[in-house]
Amino acid sequence: MSSFTDTFNTYNWDDTLQSIFSKTESDVLRALGNSKRDLEDFRALISPAAKPYLEDMAQLSRALTKKRFGNTIQMYSPMYLSNECQNICTYCGFSMTNKIPRRTLTDTEILKEVAYIKSKGYDHILLVTGEANKTVGVEYIKNALQLIRSHFSNITIEVQPLDQKDYEELIDNGLFAVLVYQETYHRDEYKKHHPKGKKSNFNYRLETPDRLGKAGIHKIGLGALFGLEDWRADSFFTALHLKYLQKTYWKTKYSISFPRLRPHSGGLDPKVEMTDPDLVQLICAFRLLDEDVELSMSTRESEVFRNNIVNLGVTSISAESKTNPGGYAVAPESLEQFEISDERSTEAVASMLKSKGLEVVWKDWANNWE
Ligand code: SF4
Repeated sequence: MSSFTDTFNTYNWDDTLQSIFSKTESDVLRALGNSKRDLEDFRALISPAAKPYLEDMAQLSRALTKKRFGNTIQMYSPMYLSNECQNICTYCGFSMTNKIPRRTLTDTEILKEVAYIKSKGYDHILLVTGEANKTVGVEYIKNALQLIRSHFSNITIEVQPLDQKDYEELIDNGLFAVLVYQETYHRDEYKKHHPKGKKSNFNYRLETPDRLGKAGIHKIGLGALFGLEDWRADSFFTALHLKYLQKTYWKTKYSISFPRLRPHSGGLDPKVEMTDPDLVQLICAFRLLDEDVELSMSTRESEVFRNNIVNLGVTSISAESKTNPGGYAVAPESLEQFEISDERSTEAVASMLKSKGLEVVWKDWANNWE
């Protein structure tokens, strides 16, 4: 059966990178002037040649976002259910060989966390687990969905990639969206960072959005972990993935996230640095490529950076995130997956958004569109 792998295999990493770096000022000006932009325009917009045009990109991105999403921004909260993991990922505090106390929330603990998150006003939740089939497999996630579905309008998960039939079962139990980041689209680097466990299977992960699309999921979130490889090439492949999925599973909606490597227990330094202006350029480039795609910004980024980016194209933002299971109300002292950067309260972030003329939306966009 055909999948994104077929498309992906027709591309070469080095050629892709070289084509991005060879873009000129006239390519950038053409991309800025086009009313509909394609992947060639995207290459130009993420190229070094576009750097002097960052302000033009920001203005266009702001205008397109306002046209499509109005003066609104959606807020969501992540809830970590477990830090058990059978994978080794070089960049993650939950990696199997890290000697940390492991914890998986019970039903009572899940409901305690839910009560805290609800008290803050959230109506859209992101459930996160490590990848441990025995502890947090399909049955555990299904049970969590059943437990909390009456409390939230939308439930998104970021858990191990699953088979199509598993996704179908979870959708029947209230699943709304799935985030699955490829981490890096560079096959060899991917192998280095995922030496052990199910996650070491590059193709299975790459084809996860295909299985989700076939299962009829409402929304899929894509992204790469910036720092593992060159951010420009990884972003191009993310955009390629997005365009393939939109064409193939056109009923599904899509979001893009922009995680940069953060310090964690057993830390890894970024191989390739992505600066703040690079990240602004990338967010604007995605908005210019696609007016409809949702762009999400987590608390990995600093308070100052998030304050500046919210008017430039981002459509959803988390706040007060805890990246440890039970971190809100059950076990606030347990070890985090990574250190968050913006530690402000939900109320402080909401009031910052209001001060910038943005109305906070607590449900997913889908509830406003349909
Ligand atoms: S990134 Fe995910 S799969 Fe990898 S070690 Fe961390 S929790 Fe496990």
